[in-house]
Formats: sequence, structure tokens, C-alpha cells
Amino acid sequence: MISKIISESDIVAARDLIYDAERIAIVAHKAPDGDAIGASMALYHFLYTIDKEAVVVYPDSYPAYLGWLQGVDKSLVYNQQQTEIEKLFEEVDLILCVDFNEPSRAGDMAQLLANSKTDKLLIDHHPNPAEGFWKAKISYPQIASSCEIVFRLICRMGHASEINKYCAESIFTGMMTDTGNFTFNANNAEMYYIVGELIRKGIDKDEIYRRVNTYSADRMRLMGFLLSNKMKLYTDSRTALISLSYDEQKQFNFQRGDAEGFVNLPLAIDGIVFSIFLKEEKDRIRVSLRSRGEFAVNEIAATYFNGGGHFNASGGDYFDSLENAIKKVEEIIPLYKEKIVNS
Ligand code: 5GP
Ligand code: MN
Repeated sequence: MISKIISESDIVAARDLIYDAERIAIVAHKAPDGDAIGASMALYHFLYTIDKEAVVVYPDSYPAYLGWLQGVDKSLVYNQQQTEIEKLFEEVDLILCVDFNEPSRAGDMAQLLANSKTDKLLIDHHPNPAEGFWKAKISYPQIASSCEIVFRLICRMGHASEINKYCAESIFTGMMTDTGNFTFNANNAEMYYIVGELIRKGIDKDEIYRRVNTYSADRMRLMGFLLSNKMKLYTDSRTALISLSYDEQKQFNFQRGDAEGFVNLPLAIDGIVFSIFLKEEKDRIRVSLRSRGEFAVNEIAATYFNGGGHFNASGGDYFDSLENAIKKVEEIIPLYKEKIVNS
């Protein structure tokens, strides 16, 4: 048995909304990662087992390393199927919002989501969810992944036996990726009880690890290049910065998802507790921040980069050149030096 972290009133509110709906759209955040895709696909498989019609919608496409998840190829992608999704939003009885805490995280779909009058149920683990936007919410930042919340929700609704292998594979994927393969936020014993249950459902845990962590040769070479040529260390501030330009992406035949995890790499260096990754995109610089210990990176993401996220893992955008983004970061580091070093 696992403890009842989610309150009974939250479970009842979510259950009522789900039971009352016939057609349900499931939406995850832009640039969906393992937890966003895992949680949305897990809900999709679950909803079909209880005779609901579900459609998963992503603001933009999912990365190739998650393309093996059963059913993900049936999901709709807003920047490719806009009209279909607009129609869908008029028809569904409920929208499940998964692994994000405010409409803006739905990227190009944010406006559509914000304008929709359909009831929305939030299932998420990011701190400080937007107010007044959801009919009900299951928002638990103390839970390491949205996938773990989905597992807990399904069980508490009394449907543990309806978790099939595909649902279990999806849940495991997000539990694994949001904890860096169970290397951070992963000291909760119940997490391993849940993994045990998922293995009983027939998942091949080792194979999922292999699939999610298998890359192209180009990506591997890019990683080597960035670590040897592009990583700047600010040793006194225990900080590392890696930047990746558009030209460099072309040089390494960059594919969606290829930069996943790069920001974590410098944290394996003895003494480094704060890591910044800057990636040049068409109209912006994507900023990824990670820390170890007591240094909050979501505050930096919110203050300087229109972003947010978790205490130790957050992101945002910078609307200027890569060169200026690097300058900005180099201005910020000294301001936080004391906090970083003492974290
Ligand atoms: P990543 O560095 O992988 O892009 O993002 C790390 C985490 O930060 C995400 O899981 C998400 O929780 C959060 N995050 C990333 N970008 C944004 C953003 O633009 N706004 C907010 N609020 N959170 C973000
Ligand atoms: Mn997540």
C-alpha cells in the first residue's frame, strides 16, 4: 500500500469530472518531455479502458526518443493540425492539462486553451499553478513526476487493475526521466513500490531505459563537441555554462530532442552546483537551468528569462542574440555567487 498524498477531495473532484465526460482532450506542455508525454499517454490508455474517448494534443511535436511509446503517433500536434485541434476543443467535454501549471506553457496553443470554455482538470507537479483557470486541480509539487501523480490518481479512483502494459510503460517513462533515471528527487521509498507494481504489469524497465537513452551518432558527437569546446566553467561561482548556436546545430544535423539532458552534464563535475544551457532557436534563446542542493533556479528563470519551473530544474526564453544571452548570464552569475557557493 502507498500513502494517500493526494487529498480525498481532490480525487473525488477529478473522478467526477472524468466520469461525467465522454470525450476528453489531453494536453501537455510545449516541447514535451518524457514526463509530459508519459503522463498524457498513460491517461490516454487509462481513459480507453474505462470507455472514454480520448485524444492527446501537443503544442509541437514529440522527440524521436519517445516515439516508441504505444499510441503516441496518434496524438495531434498543434503546429501541424491546428484546424483539427480547434474543432476538437469545441467538441470535448473535458480538457486534461498535464505536466504544466499555466496556459502560456502550451506555447502556440496557449490562446486556444485560455479561450476555451470547456472544463479543465490540471494534473501537475509544478509549484504555483495559475489560479482561476481550472475546474479542479491535482497539483502536488512534492511528487517527483506527473506520471507518479497519474498512477496515484488511477489507483485512488479504484482502477489499479485497469492499468495495462502500455499505460504502465508510459507511467514508468516519466517517473524515470523526471528523476534523471532515479538519480535526483528519488529518495521516496514509495516510488520504488510503484515501479514494482509497474513491473508486475509487464513493463521491461531495462528496455525502456535503453530506448529512452539511445541516441544518434550525431547527438553523441555534438555532446562531445560541447563538452570539450563550449563548456565554460566559473569555478569560483561553482557554475558551468554551455551554449549551442544555430550553426553548430546544423553542423551536427540537430534533431528535436537532441539537446535533452545536456544541461545536466556539468553537474557531474566535482564542485559544480549550477549549470546553464543556452540554445539558439529561430526567434529566441532557450534557457535551461539546473542546480544541486539548496540553490533555487526557478527564481532566476522567472526573474530574467520569462520562465519558471522546479526548484532545481527550470527554463525560460531570452529574446536577443546568443552572444547577448551569454553576456546576460555572465552578469547574473556574480549576483548569485554567495547563494550558489553556500547552497
Ligand atoms: P528544460 O530545461 O528541460 O527545458 O525545462 C526544465 C523544467 O523547467 C521543465 O520541466 C519545466 O518544468 C520548466 N520550464 C521550462 N521552460 C519553462 C518556461 O518557459 N516557463 C515555465 N514556467 N517553466 C518552464
Ligand atoms: Mn514533469
